[in-house]
Amino acid sequence: MNKVWLSSPHLSGTELKYINEAFSTNWIAPLGPNVNGFEKDLQKYLNVKHSAVLSSGTAAIHLALILLNVGYGDEVICQSFTFVATANPIVYQGAKPIFIDSEEDTWNMCPVFLRKAIIDRLAKGKKPKAIIVVHLYGMPAKMNEILAIANEFNIPVIEDAAEALGSNYYGKKCGTLGKFGVLSFNGNKIITTSGGGALVSDDEDAITKARILASQARDDAPHYQHSEIGYNYRMSNICAGIGRGQMEVLSQRILQRRANNKRYVDFFKNFEGVTLQLEPNSSYYSNFWLTSIIIDPLKTGGVTREDIRGALENENIESRPLWKPMHLQPVFTGVKFFGDKICERFFNNGLCLPSGSNLENESFTRIFEIFDKLLKL
Ligand SMILES: *Cc1c(COP(=O)(O)O)cnc(C)c1O
Repeated sequence: MNKVWLSSPHLSGTELKYINEAFSTNWIAPLGPNVNGFEKDLQKYLNVKHSAVLSSGTAAIHLALILLNVGYGDEVICQSFTFVATANPIVYQGAKPIFIDSEEDTWNMCPVFLRKAIIDRLAKGKKPKAIIVVHLYGMPAKMNEILAIANEFNIPVIEDAAEALGSNYYGKKCGTLGKFGVLSFNGNKIITTSGGGALVSDDEDAITKARILASQARDDAPHYQHSEIGYNYRMSNICAGIGRGQMEVLSQRILQRRANNKRYVDFFKNFEGVTLQLEPNSSYYSNFWLTSIIIDPLKTGGVTREDIRGALENENIESRPLWKPMHLQPVFTGVKFFGDKICERFFNNGLCLPSGSNLENESFTRIFEIFDKLLKL
């Protein structure tokens, strides 16, 4: 039986054209026409003024924090329910994360706990330097509420849209709602450059600075001179060529992932005890990077998430528990958390299902057969 992947790269066929151009013109460096072209493509698609393509999404989060002057001893508010790459750069800066629980509708940052956290920290004389909100699995967070709180307390927002390229919120693209947006083009994301990321913003000075920091912070001089610490975070012209080819099919990929999601939604209508991550109303538009479910063993006759994951694995089908919350990670023991047990419950009972835009009909048949066997009608 062929392996069914959770989310595998899906090439368009035009990537090689851009890569060949890079080879034939000898632009193999971390600069060149593909880098500039990919940045332009992203800006046009997102309707954002500026962007810098980088070596990873993690690098983009790191640079956003540096640009917001996050330094040693500072506090940064961060969604707990996410991949560790959201939180690690806070620690790179010597700052402390403050984790926030999720809410039930989008599974993303809870505005109520966000406000509680800010008020608590202000009372302790510690104003958080930034808020990092995540659009998990492509689902937009409750940005109106979150931005209202951020504006009230004048704290900048970084949107981790690594999983949400192409998702919309009230007609605006995810990644363009806060001060900075972060994208990832890792191999399993909705489009890929094999590895890469981007930082986007309407702030020209900030993105110009990001490019300098990403290129070892070289001063404008004929010799190599440096007045501050820099990083080697730029994207190569080869990877950017893959990105340009992928941009040509992004809209298609979103429709394919959304069609997968609809198939799962229709299928699970027949079963008790399975809840999907769904758009709360028509102002939310998810790219449905991954379709995710929560299993309630009390309603499935005792069948658990692990039973399902194991049964899929036995048939060579990859699925994955939802992200383990940051406040439960050994590496973040003792870090402050504002919330209840909402994302903890998602983690305990949740599963991401195969969602690739190249998923075949035959794979769906195999997946559904397993659920048919395990779940009660
Ligand atoms: C993938 C991902 C990142 C990091 O992106 P890389 O390009 O792998 O560094 C950050 N946040 C979230 C939520 C992600 O899924």
